[in-house]
Amino acid sequence: MSNQLSERINNLVPSATLEMAAKARELRAEGKDIIGLSLGEPDFNTPDYIKDAAIQAINENYNSYTPVDGYVELKDAIITKFKRDNNLTYGRSQIVVSTGAKQALYNVAQACLDKGDEVILPCPYWVSYSDIVKLSDGVPVEVATSIENDFKMTPEQLEAAITPKTKMLWYSSPCNPSGSIYSKEELRGLADVLQKHPQIVVVSDEIYEHINYGVTEHASMADFEDMYDRTVTVNGVAKAFAMTGWRIGYIGAPEYIARACNKLQGQVTSGANCIAQRAVITALLESPSRVQYMVDEFKNRRKLILELLNGIPGFKCNEPEGAFYVYPDVSEYFGKTLQGRKIGNASDFAMYLLEEANVATVTGDAFGNGDSIRISYAASEDEIKDAIARIASVL
Ligand code: PMP
Ligand code: GLU
Repeated sequence: MSNQLSERINNLVPSATLEMAAKARELRAEGKDIIGLSLGEPDFNTPDYIKDAAIQAINENYNSYTPVDGYVELKDAIITKFKRDNNLTYGRSQIVVSTGAKQALYNVAQACLDKGDEVILPCPYWVSYSDIVKLSDGVPVEVATSIENDFKMTPEQLEAAITPKTKMLWYSSPCNPSGSIYSKEELRGLADVLQKHPQIVVVSDEIYEHINYGVTEHASMADFEDMYDRTVTVNGVAKAFAMTGWRIGYIGAPEYIARACNKLQGQVTSGANCIAQRAVITALLESPSRVQYMVDEFKNRRKLILELLNGIPGFKCNEPEGAFYVYPDVSEYFGKTLQGRKIGNASDFAMYLLEEANVATVTGDAFGNGDSIRISYAASEDEIKDAIARIASVL
């Protein structure tokens, strides 16, 4: 029988981050000693006080369907968190809990985009943005940024990218993969441009909010009064609380968008996992200072990996202010031949590092910026030292 798959799925590109992680797993199963620096996943365990809340929820028989948009107690915890950390005031009808921030983003795209609607994505952007937009019939419009400007989009670049078809702007701050953080003033500059284009909805992905190394304070687009009504604030617990597998993310949004996401979710998942939701109530209501030890550790690793990478010729790094990735420009290697292999682009380079140095990274092509590779430093100091020594030795 011929391929009966839809055009939509045939055109969908697999997630490069997950694919690289799967490839590393496969090679490990074959007996290769692979150091995985490809996946954005904290190498810590979920803190005990959060695990205890989940165990308690199981024992208290939280086993039924939850409200589609999340338990009321969880929505109230999210409302408290938004007020406490971001000075944002949301009501219950503006909050939707989803199966990870990834599903939250997908819901928003499905809820807001019609065929041909353009979505501005400053590059580099998180790998799934572009494909989620395409899956929702939208058209990603990539705006190239430069390492000299810390990979941030300027108001002039935003203005130049806007057309009558522009429907949304999506970005993450702290940014995956560059670690850049937009200051309040920089966001204001973008907001001033958006004031002239009232049809544009902003998706502000703040999932790395707490993984901030103290250079630039976290700021939320929705904190500007004139942007509140057209900004969707996306967040989740995967990164700051080491809860990637629990799969809980959420939005604070204009009510009409939240309602639409709720309706969609009601037909697609019936809501997020009940036990994970109960655990997240505790995660959010406790002080973020309880997970600061992980941020402190990431900060040490950031220093280490930057020192090591800056010692390798041909690696040009910006200094990430948040998240747990470095995004070195390695374009000096393009066009060279290493150990008989031609390195044409970042994908060749990442594959070379995987196969010759046994280190898994992710090609910058996946993030809409082909000069770099992404290296996650959510790994132990020993692994980082070993990985960078291996990389240096094959270059
Ligand atoms: N946004 C960004 C910027 C991310 O790096 C990730 C990584 N997983 C997500 C969203 C999705 O998070 P979740 O695991 O909660 O789906
Ligand atoms: N967000 C993480 C990353 O960028 C996890 C993988 C994924 O969800 O794609 O590596």
